[in-house]
Amino acid sequence: MTQVTERIPRKAAAGGTAGRRSAKPNGQWKIDGTEPLNANEEMKAADNGLNVRERIENVYAHGGFASIEPEDLHGRFRWWGLYTQRKQGIPGGKTATLEPHELEDEYFMLRVRIDGGALTTEQLEVIGGISTEFARDTADVTDRQNIQLHWIDVRDVPEIWRRLESVGLSTTEACGDVPRVILGSPVAGIAAEEIIDPTPVIAEIARRYVGNPEFSNLPRKYKTAITGHPSQDVVHEINDFGLVGVVHPEHGPGYDLWVGGGLSAAPRLGERLGVFVGEDAAPDVWEGVTSIFRDYGFRRLRNRARLKFLLADWGPEKFRQVLEDEYLGYALPDCDAAPAPTGPGDHSGVHRQKDGRFYVGLTPLVGRVSGTALSGLARLLEEHGSQRLRTTPHQKVIALDLEEDRVEPFIAAARELGFEARPGLVSRSAIACTGIEYCKLAIVDTKDTAAAAARELDRRLADRSGRVPRKLSLNVNGCPNSCARIQTADIGLKGQLITDDDGEQVAGFQVHLGGTLATSEDDEPTLGRTVRGLKVAADRLPDYVDGLLQRYAETAEEGESFAA
Ligand code: SF4
Repeated sequence: MTQVTERIPRKAAAGGTAGRRSAKPNGQWKIDGTEPLNANEEMKAADNGLNVRERIENVYAHGGFASIEPEDLHGRFRWWGLYTQRKQGIPGGKTATLEPHELEDEYFMLRVRIDGGALTTEQLEVIGGISTEFARDTADVTDRQNIQLHWIDVRDVPEIWRRLESVGLSTTEACGDVPRVILGSPVAGIAAEEIIDPTPVIAEIARRYVGNPEFSNLPRKYKTAITGHPSQDVVHEINDFGLVGVVHPEHGPGYDLWVGGGLSAAPRLGERLGVFVGEDAAPDVWEGVTSIFRDYGFRRLRNRARLKFLLADWGPEKFRQVLEDEYLGYALPDCDAAPAPTGPGDHSGVHRQKDGRFYVGLTPLVGRVSGTALSGLARLLEEHGSQRLRTTPHQKVIALDLEEDRVEPFIAAARELGFEARPGLVSRSAIACTGIEYCKLAIVDTKDTAAAAARELDRRLADRSGRVPRKLSLNVNGCPNSCARIQTADIGLKGQLITDDDGEQVAGFQVHLGGTLATSEDDEPTLGRTVRGLKVAADRLPDYVDGLLQRYAETAEEGESFAA
């Protein structure tokens, strides 16, 4: 590993000093001091979220749900991957007037963090077993490479942690104002065309900083994505911190640094700082950027606290200057942008590994699986000679290390479990957030609606001749948040109640069109735009998308993307 530490000439930085006080305090610790300016900051200042574990193990697991202090229940539990889930049967909309106990169940969603999406079959078997024993056989593969379970009783949490940790898994900082799971290329270390294997960098960042009290009180959630694959397969443009594999003409393989991406209400694509980060320097650079967020991030208003707002205020040149001068103590080499990505990066289907064996990208439709299916997949992999798999940032799974003669038998057996290696166009890319089944903020159903639409659209497309887009992403959210990245989709759907032709309020979606993350040199990353007034009822979704596909078939030029 080559550490790059020499001082090199740096571009002039824009803007004044990092420590300049603005007219109104923004809650920036290094400028305004650490006095909390809102209830969330007060909660975090009163007690570190990581400390709630001891109370869960020693108090709440014995006293049950009723014994949980409100500040822990609605605040610090997240530091250990626990959210209360929505009470069953509460309809969407108009929930803002409900008290928490009217809206939330006495059960939890539990998020298992899987840095880099890397799992062994033993680990998968343990998650599957926890699901069947403690989570009513629920499980979702998320678009951040985690696996989420539902129906968790706080009395079972210590035993669940014991089982997860016995195989090297955890729920530490899976939610909360902390460094969330580290997205990593799901083919790290195995793809023949890889520029650099990010596995050591991901492991070192997780080892040093996850669960570290120095970084457990950030202004807001903090998302990391690292890839060395030329398809740039970790949606780095919408993460707070991103490293993308690049070959520097002088220093060789390493990373191009991106910061300040994020979606939700004020979506913003990340920006390059124009620096090259060598493998050895990467954990320190992560620490530097994350420390900037901790020390200078805006804490007064929660909806302006993500790193993207600080980047927008400073600009990339000043951000780089502060990183180098105040946190690293040395200048990083300049870096040209990585070449355009080489494909969709979902790794669907069959691919040869660099060791000659094969990996197979599998679609569990919109990430919905079960504990039974996960345990079945673990056993199936072992029966076919594999002990490894990965989750992907697209709610998918990749089976690794299959010998050539086991590939087709494995694909046929995986299909029986609900994992499809050759999905239709829509199923391949469709993702959906948790939605009204379990999420307290949801307005409409997402998983079942999106899965039914994808199945129906693929059925119709199979019978159709004429032009079909090369790729089509259908992302479905249950509310105005953006857990399913609607602004990055060809068709992004934001759940809301709409008025139908009979004047009734029904489940529906506001439509966003034209979003894309780059998948080739022909794409520019673009955030989709709301089409004002364009709304679709949930039960009309297949017909609506079908209409768009028919218009594409009639009007698109050869090779034109759907987003264009
Ligand atoms: Fe819940 Fe909204 Fe996120 Fe969906 S997008 S999981 S409904 S908060």
